[in-house]
Amino acid sequence: MVAHTCRICGLNFSYEPVFYAGTLQEVITRKYCDECIPRMEAKGSMAAAENVAQEREKAWLEICPPPYRETDAVRLPMNPAPLAKVLKWKGGGSRGIALAGATGVGKTRAMFLLLHRLHWEGHHVTAVTAKRFERYVHQMFEKDNEARDMIRRAHRADILYIRIFFLSVFASHSI
Ligand SMILES: [Zn+2]
Repeated sequence: MVAHTCRICGLNFSYEPVFYAGTLQEVITRKYCDECIPRMEAKGSMAAAENVAQEREKAWLEICPPPYRETDAVRLPMNPAPLAKVLKWKGGGSRGIALAGATGVGKTRAMFLLLHRLHWEGHHVTAVTAKRFERYVHQMFEKDNEARDMIRRAHRADILYIRIFFLSVFASHSI
């Protein structure tokens, strides 16, 4: 047995040293006691999970314009039945969603609520207005880098959300 002082809690602990190829050469020196190792590992994975969450949150801010970030599904003026259908939509299939209706009923808000969930579930989502999308497609042929970037992102996305003034279209693998 070898005795050591734990670098975290400062208590003494002892452990069976690891021998290499039968010789009495110690190859692993432990710095932490049995109680502190799992605590340290848990902290590490918590930090990693936190990092992933922060990255995802940051990515969302780039996808979702400010007016659509704080939407409460309960307060949407949309009819609850179609709204529930929209919010339940799962990406990945060949069927998309198109919402048509008067301005102000909450089509875009509903779509961004759905997009938010899909984003957090790990889908690659992209949102763009139809007008912008059209402009980007034109500019792409004029070697515009921002346009190429957007088109590339849209192409990579498994869920693409195109907003038109009175119509919201959600497409899976549409391009
Ligand atoms: Zn310890």
